[in-house]
Amino acid sequence: AKDAGRNTVVFFDQNLQARLNNRLELQRDLHRGLAQNEFELYYQPKVNAERKIVGVEGLARWHHPTRGMVSPGIFIPIAEESADILKMGEWVVRTACAQIVEWSSHPVRKYWTIAINVSVKQLRGESFVDQVIQILLETGADPKLLVLEITESMLLGDTEAAIDKMDVLRAKGVRFALDDFGTGYSSLSYLQRLPIDQLKIDQSFVQKLDSNHIHQKLTRSIISLGHSLDLQIVAEGVESEEEYEILKQQGCDLFQGYLFAKPMQRTLLRDEVDT
Ligand code: C2E
Ligand code: CA
Ligand code: CA
Ligand code: CA
Repeated sequence: AKDAGRNTVVFFDQNLQARLNNRLELQRDLHRGLAQNEFELYYQPKVNAERKIVGVEGLARWHHPTRGMVSPGIFIPIAEESADILKMGEWVVRTACAQIVEWSSHPVRKYWTIAINVSVKQLRGESFVDQVIQILLETGADPKLLVLEITESMLLGDTEAAIDKMDVLRAKGVRFALDDFGTGYSSLSYLQRLPIDQLKIDQSFVQKLDSNHIHQKLTRSIISLGHSLDLQIVAEGVESEEEYEILKQQGCDLFQGYLFAKPMQRTLLRDEVDT
């Protein structure tokens, strides 16, 4: 039994070592990959109650030379461990703004908003506001078509500083969405203070909405809470017609999920989603 115990310890140590090595390797690869343009922004449509596309969310993808596609759930936390997240964040803003400009002469897409995810380090960074304004100026992108998605947890601790930055960008026309809403702690008075335009209902509440009555009550109250604060409500992770139907009946404004389209390469995007 003693030997087995020792073996177990050895086994776990090796496992841990392998994981550490893997992480270090990815960290190095990511640094190099940023310089070598291995990243791509995929786009997932957001539709309205008429199933018409009104915008997209940009979601980063990494084409790793040997591992294939690495998901942002893996590489964003790794990027966040170093200043690489700032580089990555800047690339995302620049790519989205360039896309807004490219679509500005397209008859349908010129109206589409592009939302991008901002990370906590990026928002807290000293040059964030200047950088976004600078990129908007350089590219000539319409600031009103840019939506920055942040989460509640990013605002913890340093709420006032974050609000100040958001105010400056909103004065330029940039809009803000509160992502993953419902997973953190938000009082009504807190939410009221935030300079945001959109609430995104977290996909965990949208899942199984057709059979889960508690979730139905939650989405209903999030929608009425959000509307009472004049916020646009976006449901994410909509996968079935039933979920779409229930959310529409509850007054939800916009919808995003595999039911309409998965995140996809720019060249595969279409002007309309399938019905
Ligand atoms: P998120 O911002 O909450 O993005 C939504 C995630 O849900 C995306 O995963 C999307 O592919 C997925 N999704 C969309 N529709 C459905 C659906 O109907 N069902 C299910 N099950 N999933 C759906 P993805 O692309 O893997 O991104 C994961 C997270 O990584 C994002 O969550 C976001 O927090 C982060 N992320 C992605 N791109 C960036 C980026 O450019 N910068 C930063 N800072 N974070 C990013
Ligand atoms: Ca998001
Ligand atoms: Ca989300
Ligand atoms: Ca999320």
